[in-house]
Amino acid sequence: MKSFDAVVIGGGPSGMTAALYLARSELSVAMVEMLSPGGQVLMTHFIENYPGYPEGIEGWKLADIFAKHLDSYPAIARLNDEVKAIEPKEGAHRILVGSEWIEARAVIIASGARYKRLGLPGEQELLGKGVSYCALCDGNFFRGQDVAVIGGGNSALEESLYLARLVKKLYLIHRREDFRAQRCYQDRCGINPVIQLVRSSVVEEIVGTDKVEAVTVRDLKTDERTRLDVQGVFIFVGYEPQGGFFPSGIETDPQGFIVTDQNYLTSIPGIYAAGDVRSKNVRQVATAVGDGAAAASTVISYLETLGHH
Ligand code: NAP
Repeated sequence: MKSFDAVVIGGGPSGMTAALYLARSELSVAMVEMLSPGGQVLMTHFIENYPGYPEGIEGWKLADIFAKHLDSYPAIARLNDEVKAIEPKEGAHRILVGSEWIEARAVIIASGARYKRLGLPGEQELLGKGVSYCALCDGNFFRGQDVAVIGGGNSALEESLYLARLVKKLYLIHRREDFRAQRCYQDRCGINPVIQLVRSSVVEEIVGTDKVEAVTVRDLKTDERTRLDVQGVFIFVGYEPQGGFFPSGIETDPQGFIVTDQNYLTSIPGIYAAGDVRSKNVRQVATAVGDGAAAASTVISYLETLGHH
């Protein structure tokens, strides 16, 4: 069985930063990533709030720069597969990567988060047939067409601004009167001629057989139902942790995100969590990078106390 000082699960900004810090302290480290390094940054059109890029930067470009930095540490073992399980063990934890077990004295879970499903009638059935959770991936299919975006946070508004450049008409449907998103996004959406704000309203059903044809919307103030003819529905109603492999007994919050102490330690000794997968309030590239650096620094001290460094 391959054995490492530390294994980082996830190759987003948090996992990449953690791997880089660990490699710099000359520990043997593996980073497991099932897709390409970059995480959600790869699915983000444009990033304006990561320091160092005053003009903003395209998500794929930032991911590429992160990946190049990581490439400059060839000592990091890169495992391109899915983590299936973690078995906590005294001494060294065991991690099932694809069909191979590896072991590590310390594990950093940085597997990130994904967009939540809303559970609407038609949502699952029409996934990939007009229903999407990624504007950057699927926006092009709806050029010149009409779409609905559901949600009122930063994601919904930011993605709406991107989609508004492609589509003919965009209904931004939010369940409350006030948006949760930062003011700058609200202002830009408010003046965009393509975007129609549909406030205090919920989508009750996504209609269509082979492809999306419409959404039925209920106005929460008047209880009136309207049908909006759209070809696409983009859903941005928050995140859920990307897991499935979390060790049994690990403490999570009610939403399933991993609870850590201020040193990024989970409820299981030797297992740490960093980035969007962690229970916390702010999920940004900058905070993911910060988490990765801090968690790795804790791991370095932890391994020193074990006397293996
Ligand atoms: P979020 O901030 O949790 O917002 C989710 C939105 O979906 C809220 O407006 C919420 O409505 C709505 N919602 C939740 N459940 C719903 C339901 N069942 N039916 C209808 N609407 C529902 O999620 P997010 O926008 O994906 O952002 C997640 C995190 O990523 C945040 O920390 C955010 O700041 C960060 N992020 C940052 C940026 C950026 O800085 N540029 C960009 C993207 C994401 P209520 O408001 O009524 O609760």
